[in-house]
Amino acid sequence: MSVPKIRIHGLNGGEWRSEGDYVLYWMVSSRRSRWNYALQYAVERAREMAKPLVVLEAIRCDHRWSSERIHRFVMDGMADQGVAFAQTSALYYPYVERQKDEGKGLLEAMAQRACGVVTDLFPGFFLPRMLGGAGGRVQVALEAVDSNGLLPLRAAETVFSTAYAFRRFLHKTLPPFLLEMPEASPLSGVTLPRLGRLPVEIVRRWPAITAEELAQGASFSGIAVSRAVRPVVGVRGGEEAAQKRMRSFLAHGLGRYAEERNEPALDVTSGLSPYLHFGHLSTHEVFAALVEREGWEMARLGKATGQREGWWGMSKEAEAFLDELVTWREVGFNMAYLNDQYDQYASLPDWAKQTLDEHRQDPRPYLYSLAEFEQVKTHDPLWNAAQHQLMREGKIHNYLRMLWGKKILEWTRSPEDALAVMIELNNKYALDGRDPNSYSGIFWVLGRYDRAWGPERPIFGKIRYMSSDNTARKVDVKEYIARYAP
Ligand SMILES: Cc1cc2nc3c(=O)[nH]c(=O)nc-3n(C[C@H](O)[C@H](O)[C@H](O)COP(=O)(O)OP(=O)(O)OC[C@H]3O[C@@H](n4cnc5c(N)ncnc54)[C@H](O)[C@@H]3O)c2cc1C
Repeated sequence: MSVPKIRIHGLNGGEWRSEGDYVLYWMVSSRRSRWNYALQYAVERAREMAKPLVVLEAIRCDHRWSSERIHRFVMDGMADQGVAFAQTSALYYPYVERQKDEGKGLLEAMAQRACGVVTDLFPGFFLPRMLGGAGGRVQVALEAVDSNGLLPLRAAETVFSTAYAFRRFLHKTLPPFLLEMPEASPLSGVTLPRLGRLPVEIVRRWPAITAEELAQGASFSGIAVSRAVRPVVGVRGGEEAAQKRMRSFLAHGLGRYAEERNEPALDVTSGLSPYLHFGHLSTHEVFAALVEREGWEMARLGKATGQREGWWGMSKEAEAFLDELVTWREVGFNMAYLNDQYDQYASLPDWAKQTLDEHRQDPRPYLYSLAEFEQVKTHDPLWNAAQHQLMREGKIHNYLRMLWGKKILEWTRSPEDALAVMIELNNKYALDGRDPNSYSGIFWVLGRYDRAWGPERPIFGKIRYMSSDNTARKVDVKEYIARYAP
């Protein structure tokens, strides 16, 4: 098998059965036809057993925070995949649940006829629970493949509490994994036996969504999904849009990234986080594109120092970008994978909990409820603009996202309340929400991955402080406020 063993996680100890009708790939987080270890593994199994390959991509209509916004993005991806898989010998089966619980039983029904089931490993949101449950219900082998990042999740056995410690670990551990890349197009040039259609009882009870319905998105009347959060106008999900975005960033944004990425008005960051979150784009593919841009080779890797710059042996801007894409992104995956409490207040470092506790009774200059935050009713025009951007565009520029969180800490009754408000607003509105990095960012506001700072301040204690006035001094916010004023 060409997929590294370290990335394959058996979920139920079940056997592969040669009497099955097909190999099933249940695509749950790496929602793409390219640079995808799970798809590559499923293709290899199918070739080995000379069986057809069925790819099931599904979405439930009632998971926590499910909304038209998320459905639209995922369904755009399904439309792209329909086109991509039509050119291969695999059978692609996109399923969008129309009414709550209608999708129940589909996986088991498909698995009953399968030789074995391959799925994606994703260490956050409800997916670990969902996969754990499926392990008990699927009789044949159920194996999850980790395509999450350059470093396989299993390669680290401890949780890292600072980006510096994780970076040092990466410098020592990552090089051999950089020699292993998933195939760009695991199905191209591969001929598998074709399965014309699935058994009629499956197709009747759980009909695949059609290309026409996908084009309409969740707004078509048959899907019972919350209409409270509307799709983002002008933003398309899916592999095609992800490719376009990546190419445009490499051509026009990356050169300015090191110097200008903190400027909210300039918009030079990649905008790739929603595509990475939904698996429409792979970090391996982004890394390969950087390697090509930089004419890079392994011999350029420097000494393992843990320093942010200089290890990769790439241009300044590429190194700055890789520090976000690899160090910061993957330290969050490490936390979510190894710490069951990654989304709980209890998982904050002790020093942070202690200092927040010592300032629990401090008077708050303003107090807002979740509803007031959500209705953009604070006294602060910069905070309101950030919240408005989140609601309208499903994102906030990273620098202002930090400020957004710090102010919620300052204006709520307790740090636990602040955490709950941040999680709710971020995960409800952000296209990249519900990700391990949602929790990295939100918990960073409360001290995760950070150190104690002085002087000690009311409410924050030793937690790093940010203010709108300071932010306005450091970066140009006038244009931003004008653009996003509610
Ligand atoms: C309060 C708060 C909430 C956040 N919530 C999320 C979230 O829900 N989902 C999410 O992906 N990120 C979150 N972040 C991290 C960061 O804001 C976003 O990853 C980044 O702004 C995405 O924009 P981009 O793709 O243009 O980033 P770029 O600057 O182009 O970076 C490229 C990629 O690197 C990763 N990355 C960049 N910055 C960070 C960071 N600080 N931490 C971890 N990974 C990073 C992302 O995958 C990003 O797409 C949050 C940060 C804060 C302070």
